[in-house]
Amino acid sequence: MKKAKADPDPAVDRDLYSGMMRLHVLHHATERPIFGLGMVEELARHGYRISPGTLYPLLYGLEKKGYLRSTEQRNGKSLRKVYRATPLGRKALTAASAKVRELIGELMEGQRRAC
Ligand SMILES: [Zn+2]
Repeated sequence: MKKAKADPDPAVDRDLYSGMMRLHVLHHATERPIFGLGMVEELARHGYRISPGTLYPLLYGLEKKGYLRSTEQRNGKSLRKVYRATPLGRKALTAASAKVRELIGELMEGQRRAC
């Protein structure tokens, strides 16, 4: 089957939000250990619809970059992978925060002008 070129709904445009979702994941991983399904729910709470099949490669990618480190944790009978931010991940998040702050400033300014 051919993959669609673009998501028809701009509110769920994964391309546009992928960086934000990564920052979101990184942010939560600095606060406490996170796991895949918990993060799917957390992102859904913020209005990002993401399937585990999309989130797991995202987590793996962040781990490969050295921003997250995973360990296996027993959850009842099964093992689950939990992720924590590494010092490098924290550093990346701090740098990104400055950029996000700047972007928010511009977006808000634009909104004020539009009013
Ligand atoms: Zn959150």
